[in-house]
Order: sequence, then C-alpha cells, then structure tokens
Amino acid sequence: MRSSTAWHIVAGRVEEVTIPAEGFEIDLGLACNGYRLLPGNEDDNWRDFTLGKVAEIATRLTPWAEWWCSPNLPLHEEIGEVGGVAYGQPQVGLVRSCWRPEFSISTAFHEAWHLAEPWLTYEEAMAVQAATKRGPEWPTDYLRRECERSARAFQNWAMSTLETGGGRPGRGAPMHYKAFWSVYSGEVGQRALAKRGVVRPERRPPPAPVKVIQWWRGGAINTATV
Ligand SMILES: [Zn+2]
Repeated sequence: MRSSTAWHIVAGRVEEVTIPAEGFEIDLGLACNGYRLLPGNEDDNWRDFTLGKVAEIATRLTPWAEWWCSPNLPLHEEIGEVGGVAYGQPQVGLVRSCWRPEFSISTAFHEAWHLAEPWLTYEEAMAVQAATKRGPEWPTDYLRRECERSARAFQNWAMSTLETGGGRPGRGAPMHYKAFWSVYSGEVGQRALAKRGVVRPERRPPPAPVKVIQWWRGGAINTATV
C-alpha cells in the first residue's frame, strides 16, 4: 500500500500528516465540497529545501491563510493538472510537492497572490490591472482571466526578486512593482490581519493533530507533528 505525506502550514507552523492510500479530504470552506489529497512521491529536494521556502512564502505573504502541500493534487475541472490552487474565502493555498524546487516555489508565489489580491488598495489593484492588460492574448478563457494575468506577472516578478535579492522598488519604479512589493514583503499580509474579514491564525483552532482530524472527512489517518 502506498502512502505519502501532506504538509499543513498554518501561522508559520509546519505539520506532517500521513496520506493513506485512499487519500484524505481537506475542507476548503464554502468554495468546494471536499478536496482529496492523494498519495504520491515528493520531489527529492522537497523536505530539505523546498518545503522551508514554501512555508516561508506562505507565512510572510499570507499570514492569515492555511496551506496544504501534497505530491498529488486532484485534476482541475477546467485546466487538468495543476501545480497549486488557491481556494476559500479566500483562505486556503495548495502547492504540489512532486515538482522541482523552482516550480513549487514559483507556484507558491502564484497562489499567494490569489489569496492576497483582495487586500490590495484600490490604487494598487488599478496599477496592476493597467499593467497586466497590455500582455498577450492567451489561448484559453482560464489563462485570459484578469486574476490569472496578474498572478503570473507577480509570480515572475517575485522569482526574479528572489533570485537577485532585490529590495523595495525605488521612486521611479512602475506603480505595479510597488503593489507587487507590498505583497512580496508581507505588508499586504499584515494589512489583511489588521482588518476584519480574515480570521487571525491565533484565533483559529491550533494546528495540533487532534485539530487536523477536523480537516478531513473519511477513514482514519495517522498524524504527527514536526
Ligand atoms: Zn492562478
């Protein structure tokens, strides 16, 4: 029987949860009726390298959100295989752990953007929209969505900033870079925590194994904390 590991990230804490052969369901709130993480094989670099980077991005950019990482995410109804998903009110991000580090990290930025975008100021949102509508005509409705254009633009900018160790954009930088920086630096995350509408992690059930059980509906699973 094959089993593997899902990683649950909440408020900077990382928990390891064993995925049984039949998988287990996590609760994505109002957006979805059950979402089943399935067993599979993690990338060789996942535990020692990628997980730490993804957890850091998740915690800095979206400190209110709940994240799950799993080697095998269900197929998306519109686009098939995905590297990550953002769901919820929005509060839940998912990242695939079977991909090479740069893909998983890039996906974490992409999904974090989807979660953080509702917390941009009006000016930030307008600057990003104005910048990203200049790009190519993508071949599918899904890829053409405004939120997907901005998520891809942010993801690419964030990877470049990560690679170069870049800091806050200077005075003459494009407005949308400043919005990107607000998300990348964690300013938007802190802004979201300060407003009503997000449940602060400390007010949620603590991510102890007994609480993880509330996150699935189905057969017995083993849990362990790391
Ligand atoms: Zn997306």
